[in-house]
Amino acid sequence: MNLAHLLARTARVFPQRNAVTLAERELWSYGELSRRAAAIAGSLRGVHGLQAGDRVALCMANCPQYLELLYGVWHAGLVAVPINHKLHPREVAFIVDNSAASLLVVAGDPGGPDGDRAFCADGRGGPRVLSIDSREYRQLADGETIDVVARAPDDLAWLFYTSGTTGQPKGVMLSQRNLLAMTLCYFTDVDQATAADSILYAAPMSHGAGMYNFAHVLVGARHVVPGSGGFDVGEIASLAQHFGQVSLFAAPTMLRRLVEHVAARGADCSGIKTIVYGGGPMYLEDIRRALDVLGDRLVQIYGQGESPMTITALARRHLADRTHPRYLERIVSVGVAHSVVEVVVADGDGQPLPAGVAGEVLVRGETVMQGYWQNPEATAATLRDGWLHTGDVGVLDDDGFLTLKDRSKDVIISGGSNIYPREVEEVLLQHAAVDEVSVVGRPSAEWGEEVVAFVVCRPGLAAPEVDLDRLCRQSIARFKRPKDYVFVAALPKNNYGKVLKTELRRHWAEQGEEGK
Ligand code: ATP
Repeated sequence: MNLAHLLARTARVFPQRNAVTLAERELWSYGELSRRAAAIAGSLRGVHGLQAGDRVALCMANCPQYLELLYGVWHAGLVAVPINHKLHPREVAFIVDNSAASLLVVAGDPGGPDGDRAFCADGRGGPRVLSIDSREYRQLADGETIDVVARAPDDLAWLFYTSGTTGQPKGVMLSQRNLLAMTLCYFTDVDQATAADSILYAAPMSHGAGMYNFAHVLVGARHVVPGSGGFDVGEIASLAQHFGQVSLFAAPTMLRRLVEHVAARGADCSGIKTIVYGGGPMYLEDIRRALDVLGDRLVQIYGQGESPMTITALARRHLADRTHPRYLERIVSVGVAHSVVEVVVADGDGQPLPAGVAGEVLVRGETVMQGYWQNPEATAATLRDGWLHTGDVGVLDDDGFLTLKDRSKDVIISGGSNIYPREVEEVLLQHAAVDEVSVVGRPSAEWGEEVVAFVVCRPGLAAPEVDLDRLCRQSIARFKRPKDYVFVAALPKNNYGKVLKTELRRHWAEQGEEGK
């Protein structure tokens, strides 16, 4: 078993078919992509002397080379360690160091402003650094090809570092089998990818969205890398129109921007086949608007690095079924378990709870990670009796639809009652002046914790504290109402666009008593 066979097989069947474009420019056919990957594999083994199981870190913005490198790494029997290029050099150094990567591949000049030393933790010697823009790299892809190196199903394929919203990033060990199971789930639960499709990399290829390439390589679809390398909403819309039948993954903030773009310009979105959204909460108002503007192109997924992109999915038929008696509950749910996993909601002892009762979401199945890289304590805390403890609080209904309440660490306990910030955020977002909001707990001598809302108002609109409180009084219990509103220009977010609640909580710690 080796994921590299996905590419080799498609290249044998459709050698001439266009595989990769940079914006509208066709770069490589499947035959060329496969040959380049096999040559990169040959050089990694021969020139660089890497052995099966060695780690190769990839730290660059979305680019065509990402795909040939990924398959080259697997072809050679190595392990890919994709790193978000927007991380600070120190954070990159942590991952490179922690994974003991033998080679770090970057874009641009590694001796540039930050210098390649910046990638080596504490000035210690790090791995070799290779730039995709160097002559050496060009020679790599033109070198001698080798045959695919055989791997076992449980061999490590992708070492995926968590984004660290809960502490230091941890290396999630994903095996060949995990990633193939995830590929299968794409077809059964997300979208029926075909050779006529194009996958557009609007989100970072180093994260879960990049893993959707497997299903598209398998069927011989086209891979479109935006020229901007990132998320430029105008470019995404125009590339979708150019290629047609385009599928893409968008985090909720990206989807929101795409919806506004299409709505504001009356843009034609017929070139978009599927938008898979997820990775963070999507609020009811946003979902309704997205459905109004984009119709039945949407599919939602819920996953985490530890079971990448694959815990539950909310299919387009559920999002489109407006006459269903539970329609509103369903569209704010994250759908039903993917076909190769079991999902239960359990109490603190891991015992399954009945439908309608909130508890921790546990997952078991083929896509669940092997554990955390060289971190047996964290592995033992997260994988118990074969179940992945997600740290998310959810409720299952009688039909198996899961609704997430919040992450357990974000639940606010005030006067002994549990408050799910997401519920309060949903209410505040109904106000026309509110652009973004995040609710956290502030330590309180009287209540243990009390609710505080950080609010970003739309430009030109006044801070509507009184109105917001009125809105809350109309819809939620008194104890859930924010005790304070903090109006900010922007919410702190990590490189994946997720709000860093730990930083918001730190706001109070830093302000101390005077902040109250
Ligand atoms: P860390 O594990 O370091 O804290 P993280 O929380 O950002 O990082 P990810 O794997 O990037 O970890 O994100 C997974 C989390 O994102 C899930 O556990 C869940 O809380 C949230 N999430 C993912 N998909 C959805 C979704 N469709 N709706 C709501 N929340 C989601």
